[in-house]
Amino acid sequence: MAFENPFEGKEIWFGVGSQDLYGEEALRQVAIHSAEMVDYLNNTGKIPVKLVLKPTLKSSDGVKQFMVEASANPNVIGVITWCHTFSPAKMWIRGLEVLTKPLLQLNTQHHKEIPWETIDMDFMNLNQAAHGDREFGYIVSRLGIKRKVVVGHYTDPEVAEKIGTWARAAAGWDASNNMKVMRWGDNMRNVAVTEGDKTEAERVFGASINTWAVNELVAAYDAVKDDQVKAIIEDYKAKYDIDPALLDAKYDSLFISAKEEAAMVNMMTANGCTAGVDNFEDLGALPQLPGVGPQRFPSEYGWGFSAEGDWKTAVLVRIGAVMGYGLEGGASLMEDYSYNFTPGNELDMGSHMLEVSPAIGTIAKPKLEIHPLGIGGKADPVRLVFTGAPKKDVVVVSMSDVRERFRLLMDVVDVVEPGGSLKELPCARAVWKPRPSLKTAAECWILAGGSHHTCMTTSVGREAWEDFARMAGVELAVIDENTTARQFEKELELSEMVHRLDNRH
Ligand code: MN
Repeated sequence: MAFENPFEGKEIWFGVGSQDLYGEEALRQVAIHSAEMVDYLNNTGKIPVKLVLKPTLKSSDGVKQFMVEASANPNVIGVITWCHTFSPAKMWIRGLEVLTKPLLQLNTQHHKEIPWETIDMDFMNLNQAAHGDREFGYIVSRLGIKRKVVVGHYTDPEVAEKIGTWARAAAGWDASNNMKVMRWGDNMRNVAVTEGDKTEAERVFGASINTWAVNELVAAYDAVKDDQVKAIIEDYKAKYDIDPALLDAKYDSLFISAKEEAAMVNMMTANGCTAGVDNFEDLGALPQLPGVGPQRFPSEYGWGFSAEGDWKTAVLVRIGAVMGYGLEGGASLMEDYSYNFTPGNELDMGSHMLEVSPAIGTIAKPKLEIHPLGIGGKADPVRLVFTGAPKKDVVVVSMSDVRERFRLLMDVVDVVEPGGSLKELPCARAVWKPRPSLKTAAECWILAGGSHHTCMTTSVGREAWEDFARMAGVELAVIDENTTARQFEKELELSEMVHRLDNRH
């Protein structure tokens, strides 16, 4: 069981708009140029999903057929359109109306520079994306279809990067729509922000969120074979430092924690789940609150995990893991815990009692340790202890259920070195500098009703989550280097209105 490549076998269809007006020779040129461009983009190595060029679209029937096929094909996770020539946009209406996949409008050109000395009317008729893409853009906007617009010559590295980021978001959207979330136990008693409407979540995100009795996990635990446990312990030994206490007197604890990981993995796999959540208040006859196992969900299996019944963050962590596949870093549950208010060095420290994943990157090799846990009344849990590695342009994202919709909230942060050893802290943690500043970021976060639980994503940053939110049609409030509390409060008010008026989602 390993993190399956979420891009494998997936395709993004590239549809080029034209019409019959220009004659066969022009259409032949369009097809040749388009193939050259798609090959170029596929070879940049920046787009993790294969772009597939489809035959040039010249009529309303052709466009509709293309959109119906793209929507029905489970391997197609997005559509890119470009108009080499002028493509009268009424021919796109019927097709766009039935498209269910994410759309990217690429406003590019085959030629990089205007051939100043040779340009004639024939050249201009063939190479007129500046014209055609405006006509196309009008109809997409008129239909109210959300899409990403990328502008630039196809050889411009930024163009491939932006398409690549969008392709990662499309894979996240695909994973979201195929997600099954396994809940062991309900929400932590009396906690508000981790609650939410699971039926609405399936409508909005496509994720199916259901409960399995903790008794079933206990039965799965009892059924685990020793060989599987030993293999997991070998994997621990290969990847982490292990507290000698765990290898000697308390060896049972290590065995138990690896056996709990095996039980969770077996149940997740048997049910086709890609995100899971437990609750320390509801562990039945399990000996420990699972620690190291859930920490390894994002890093080893590519799955989402969150604690205290918070399935919303588990969903985000799965999406973050998929979007960042193959990049340095990853996604994990994080929780705001403690501020450093030293003037000029204001920081936020995040952690959780056990479940933060080393997927986010660590300063040193994570260490497996055993410590008592003050809550839950179970045996001391085994957990990985580490500090998140410094990195710029990291994001923390939360999902709140604000009654009539879900609100995603994101802060762009820089993970930094902690101010000291943290040697007495028996859990995984990360320290970051929020943008624009701790004070403004926290003020805005609290105003927006963001959760204390977040998905920290160190692999992909703000653009991927923005692309994702656009695909999902979900509000995403962003706090970044340009945010002021005054302007942010106004943005929230506007956003509230927009989302009430917009009943397409
Ligand atoms: Mn928590």
